[in-house]
Amino acid sequence: GAKSTGKARYRLFRPGTAEVPRARLELEAALRRALERGEFDLHYQPLVDTVTGETVGAEALLRWHSPSGVVAPFTFIPLAEETGLIGPLGAWALEEACRQGQEWSTAHPERRPLKISVNLSAHQLSRPDIVSEVEAILKRTGFPPDQLCLEITETVIMTDAEAAILTLRELKALGLQIAIDDFGTGYSSLSYLKRFPVDVVKIDRTFTSGLGDNPVDSEIVAAVIRLAAATGFTVVAEGVETERQRRALAMLGCPLIQGFLIATPLKATDFASFWATDTDRRAQRR
Ligand code: C2E
Ligand code: MG
Ligand code: MG
Ligand code: MG
Repeated sequence: GAKSTGKARYRLFRPGTAEVPRARLELEAALRRALERGEFDLHYQPLVDTVTGETVGAEALLRWHSPSGVVAPFTFIPLAEETGLIGPLGAWALEEACRQGQEWSTAHPERRPLKISVNLSAHQLSRPDIVSEVEAILKRTGFPPDQLCLEITETVIMTDAEAAILTLRELKALGLQIAIDDFGTGYSSLSYLKRFPVDVVKIDRTFTSGLGDNPVDSEIVAAVIRLAAATGFTVVAEGVETERQRRALAMLGCPLIQGFLIATPLKATDFASFWATDTDRRAQRR
């Protein structure tokens, strides 16, 4: 019950409010119902080549179509993690993203294969059966492992570094890629870049935002790109919102960008049209 689980379980809410536990329990129940009723879906945000504008992939992002409107992940992901619901929810998201990725690939064999990124939370990574679960999903959907990238944050890794390294190695052995998400917002970033099997580093938008204005942000981004060139991971700048930022990233040699300047996360059908009109946009740029 509530008493035995302790205060930490209510950290989503301001302490000292009597209504708090009830609101939390209601949200938790609503989340469970939502999963049963199929109220979740994925939006896809394009990942594009900084210079040519070609769409090389998409990040799958969960949306909850609740009876009272669309709910953003930051309201329900932390609760889903605390309650363990992220297990089934995250598995659903991964399978749906792979299914969709495979559908797009099959529909457009003439295109360069799309990379699909899916976020993995701390709770998911620490599940004992995560590797076999991912393997089973890849088998069921037929999605090629080398087109899948799993995004994890620095904090996820730091909670239990040794266990995380082992799991990441096993996941990579399936043939997929690992990305560090929100890079630069956690701690000991540089030391674990050495220790963890990382393929992609996603520079957090707090650094992207200062590009073109803030010399320190530019230096940090430049340093990560140099490090990438030296140690062999690729770089994505997140949260690109202005043409000025895009130009600065192109100048610094950042290969890939993602952000509202290119597109917001799109419904699957809208992403498909975006991908289909890629060449038109690239012609405009020339
Ligand atoms: P994230 O993985 O870092 O995803 C990027 C977030 O930045 C997304 O928020 C996206 O909509 C937003 N974003 C993209 N471009 C811009 C931009 O130019 N400016 C600004 N201000 N924001 C931008 P979203 O969709 O609300 O997702 C928030 C977080 O929720 C994600 O952060 C991720 O950590 C988590 N999340 C989303 N879907 C899943 C999922 O399927 N599983 C798990 N475990 N976590 C998820
Ligand atoms: Mg992400
Ligand atoms: Mg991110
Ligand atoms: Mg984030």
